[in-house]
Amino acid sequence: EKIPTWREENITSDKEDVELTGGGGAGGLSDKVSLYKGDITILEVDAIVNAANSSLLGGGGVDGCIHKAAGSCLYEECLSLKGCETGKAKITCGYDLPAKYVIHTVGPVARGHVGPTESSDLASCYQNSLRLMEEHNLRTVAFPCISTGIYGFPNDPAADIALKTVKEWIQQNPDKITRVIFCVFLENDFAIYKKKMSDFFKDH
Ligand code: ADP
Repeated sequence: EKIPTWREENITSDKEDVELTGGGGAGGLSDKVSLYKGDITILEVDAIVNAANSSLLGGGGVDGCIHKAAGSCLYEECLSLKGCETGKAKITCGYDLPAKYVIHTVGPVARGHVGPTESSDLASCYQNSLRLMEEHNLRTVAFPCISTGIYGFPNDPAADIALKTVKEWIQQNPDKITRVIFCVFLENDFAIYKKKMSDFFKDH
C-alpha cells in the first residue's frame, strides 16, 4: 500500500485564520498529512477535533479554548447532545470558529497507565472522528493530542496510536480525506511527533 506523505505546516501568525485545504493531488495520497504546532482554534478546516469530556459541556485545556473561541452557541448545541461515551465522537457546528464543524471525542482517562483498554479507546477516538468526517463528506481535519493533557495518557505512546490509526484510515479510505493535521500544542509533543512522522509517513 502507498505511504502518505507528510509535511510541516509553517504558520507564523496566530492572529489570522489560517486556511489549510491543500493536498490530495493527482495520486490522492501525496501531501495529506501535516504537523502543526499551535492553537487549533485558528485553523480554517472542515472540522477540528475537540478532546472533550463525557459531559460535552466544556472543561479545561483544548476543550476550554474551543468553547471560548466558538462562543455560547456551541455550548447550547452540546447541551442537546446529552454527553458522549469514551472512545465515541459527536459532531456540532463550529459557530464563531473558522472551522466549519467541531468533532467532540472523549479520550480515555489514563492517569499515566497505558493498558489495552486505554490504547483501544484512544484509537477509537481517532477512528470515530474520521468516520464522522466521512459521513458528513468533510475533507480536512485537525486533531489535538487527545488524552495527553488532563487525562494523563503518556505522550509518546499516544503519538504512536494517533499516527498509526490515521495512517491506516487514510490507506483504507484514500479518496475521502484530503488533509489530516496533527495539531500539537507543547514543545515536547512537537519533538515527539516530528521524530515519528518519518516512521509512519513519507517525507515531503
Ligand atoms: P485531555 O483531557 O483529553 O487530556 P487536554 O485539553 O487536557 O485534553 O489536553 C490535550 C492536548 O491539547 C494537550 O496536548 C494540550 O497541551 C493541548 N492543547 C491545549 N490547548 C490547546 C489549543 N488551544 N490548541 C491545540 N491544542 C491544545
